[in-house]
Amino acid sequence: MIELRGVSKTVMSGDQPLTILHPLDLHIPSGQCVSIVGPSGSGKSTLLGLIAGLDAPTTGQILIDGVDITRLGEDALAGLRGSKIGFVFQFFHLIPSLNAFENILVPLEIAGQAGARQKAEGLLAEVGLVDRAHHYPSQLSGGEQQRIAIARALANDPPILLADEPTGNLDSANGHHIVEILLDVNRRRGTTVVLVTHDTELAEITEVTLTMRDGRTERREVARAAAPVSPVSQEA
Ligand code: ADP
Ligand code: MG
Repeated sequence: MIELRGVSKTVMSGDQPLTILHPLDLHIPSGQCVSIVGPSGSGKSTLLGLIAGLDAPTTGQILIDGVDITRLGEDALAGLRGSKIGFVFQFFHLIPSLNAFENILVPLEIAGQAGARQKAEGLLAEVGLVDRAHHYPSQLSGGEQQRIAIARALANDPPILLADEPTGNLDSANGHHIVEILLDVNRRRGTTVVLVTHDTELAEITEVTLTMRDGRTERREVARAAAPVSPVSQEA
């Protein structure tokens, strides 16, 4: 469960304070799939970074499964991120000198997981890229790189997956495929998924949408019937 209470963010812009996130309350129950949509500069990445504990709010509390992360020190925060949160970025951020399999292996080995290699193979299968295991990021399409990045983010079975514009660098067919994979992860694993996008059409696919504008949430939790998900292919 993700809960924000009176969370805001003000930064200094020159010598003037600039509020980039106005005080906000938000409750995302476990297992929900939420999209956050809004134009560039509306505060989406700021909000996601706060939920991930990558940045500290100016005011308010952020509770992840009941733990107020704004009160944690760096080590405890890093531990919480490693165990509870997977993060997917617009530009994939794969390690270029490692192949797809090794990229997925990294977080498993850091966590000292037993059976890391089998687990990495299972994750490759989950995103349908078993036959790309030995390809380096430069040998993969953007959509494939993002699928590997999703597999890596899922390595330690985080209960929460945060994705910041994961389709922003992809054409619309690949973008849809990535969102379908995220929805599939949400349904099969019960992972809480927060998807940031400026693509209102993609945001329509999730069960709940939060709209942001100028650092404020304009519309919240508009429940709708989720679109059917096509199964993730095990083929490339
Ligand atoms: P989005 O992800 O919706 O495009 P961001 O959360 O990245 O928006 O940014 C929201 C606004 O805050 C933007 O106007 C951005 O320029 C500004 N901003 C973000 N971080 C900082 C910072 N550290 N200092 C000053 N301004 C910032
Ligand atoms: Mg952003």
